Amino acid sequence: MTENLQHAREQLLLISQQLCALGLNCGTSGNASIRVNDAQGQLGLLITPSGMAVDKMTLDDLVWMDFSGSAQGNRAPSSEWRFHVDILRQRPEINTVIHTHSVFATTLSTLRRDIPAFHYMIAMAGGDSIRCAPYALFGSQQLSDNALLALKQRKACLLANHGMIAIGETAEKALSITVEVETLCEQYLRALQVGEPYVLTQQEMAEVYEQFKGYGAWATNP
Ligand code: 13P
Ligand code: ZN
Repeated sequence: MTENLQHAREQLLLISQQLCALGLNCGTSGNASIRVNDAQGQLGLLITPSGMAVDKMTLDDLVWMDFSGSAQGNRAPSSEWRFHVDILRQRPEINTVIHTHSVFATTLSTLRRDIPAFHYMIAMAGGDSIRCAPYALFGSQQLSDNALLALKQRKACLLANHGMIAIGETAEKALSITVEVETLCEQYLRALQVGEPYVLTQQEMAEVYEQFKGYGAWATNP
């Protein structure tokens, strides 16, 4: 268990650094968490500290929390611990949660509208749309409740006038969904500047899910 905890600390710091290097989170914006038990085997998660820029963050600044929301560590947990805890408690298949204020997702979130299937890659987020959760104060239980609903059968959502959340079975998957959603937000915003993009039909999206079943298979199953 101790080994797992150390590995999770390294992974969480690495994700935070990667988000910063990719320009997806700057300064103290955004946060991330990874599911991991504590040294005694108690169920919980590691989360980034509140109000700390990534370039200052060390392994010792990461905070462990249990699912009732009590924290153990040298720092206060992210102010968004409620949605990290709620997502990991309610979605057992998910092990990593990422929240960003990345430019295009955040800009689009101020329009308070769902992103439709204007591009087939929207399927990566788990369905025919990426929902925008209604606005609520950062750090509030209301924001967590809204986010959980917007994430139903999805791996990403926007948070109105705030940013995005992306989730995944692994840290790598959560990061790649974050990058993809940010790209889709940029493309959708650019298209909206010229007109109203065509949206793929349910039938066309059904074909996309089918096509994805074999996609990339050679790389993992030669
Ligand atoms: P924290 O520094 O408390 O994680 O807050 C950043 C943020 O993105 C709040 O929504
Ligand atoms: Zn935020």
